[in-house]
Amino acid sequence: MTINTRPGLDLVPAYRQGKAASPGASKLSSNESPHQPLDSVVTAVTERLTTIHRYPDIGAAQLRDAIAGKYAVNADNIALGAGSVEVASQLIHAVAGPGDEVVFAWRSFEAYPSLVRIAGAVPVEVPLNQDAAHDLPAMLEAITERTKLIFICNPNNPTGTVVDAQQLDDFVNAVPRDVLVVIDEAYVHFDRSAVRADGLALFAKYPHVAVLHTFSKAYGLAGLRIGYAIAPTEVAQNLNKVAIPFSVTDLAQVAALASLRAEVELAARISEVVQQRERLLQGLLAAGYPAIASQANFVWVPAGEASAELEALLDAGGVVARTFAGEGVRISSGTSQDVDRVLKAVAGQRSEVTA
Ligand SMILES: *Cc1c(COP(=O)(O)O)cnc(C)c1O
Repeated sequence: MTINTRPGLDLVPAYRQGKAASPGASKLSSNESPHQPLDSVVTAVTERLTTIHRYPDIGAAQLRDAIAGKYAVNADNIALGAGSVEVASQLIHAVAGPGDEVVFAWRSFEAYPSLVRIAGAVPVEVPLNQDAAHDLPAMLEAITERTKLIFICNPNNPTGTVVDAQQLDDFVNAVPRDVLVVIDEAYVHFDRSAVRADGLALFAKYPHVAVLHTFSKAYGLAGLRIGYAIAPTEVAQNLNKVAIPFSVTDLAQVAALASLRAEVELAARISEVVQQRERLLQGLLAAGYPAIASQANFVWVPAGEASAELEALLDAGGVVARTFAGEGVRISSGTSQDVDRVLKAVAGQRSEVTA
């Protein structure tokens, strides 16, 4: 006799984490903040360590109020999770069941297909267009009677591309009101588009929009696991129902609150990351790589079959990036020293562009 396995679990791909880096190497494989936590955040968390024998506030009232204040929404529009990946999972579980469809672009955030499968729903992957960006017309066409949710990852991981603000508005308007459009803005802080598509504005304008934010990237709290959705009240209530109780720790809540109070300091760090992203992009282009412009904290190099070769060069130069075999390499922007290393590793290695 063997233990039963839930039917369909064989379809769930295992999540592949960005590679670990050996000591001294530049870890540019997971789009984390290259900076250590702010002193104020460390202090706030340290002060609370003596209370970890207690369960956290499941309603996270203080933090939800702070987020609500920041975005001028109601606290009952906010649902928290242990990272926005957990909130993405809650969103799927709240609206989709077995056989229902969830539409997203591909390639996009690696977690989407597994989260959809785990919920018993069916992932519908719509290929990115020639510019490695969301193909919104094709995504509209992919909607069926079984579609319950659509993810728009903006900026998109791993390509760094963004959707056009007006086109996204038109898209949301064209989606049936019983289909939830989830705009995953994990990298929104790094977006310097002239006219940025604004998930919060779409949330305010339409009844079927939710926005996903995380403290993992721009706020530098990847290890503490905290993210949230801003969603219509009824959806947010359902997210709390499907959430695993107490998954958001008190330390995570305290760190998030301290981070919201340190926006000015964090903004300076974000600007620095954006500056390094541009240096990284220009350097890769100058070295002959087909890197594409990014609005996130990483640069995508669609090197195709040459991806393994690029990975090997980076490895040799003490840089760990994220390779998607046969497709491309995603390099997080890091500090100026990190970018120096990348550019040194690739300098003079290539004489022509292969896309
Ligand atoms: C990193 C990332 C997230 C969230 O990560 P958490 O650490 O779970 O908050 C969500 N969406 C995208 C597209 C990401 O790249």
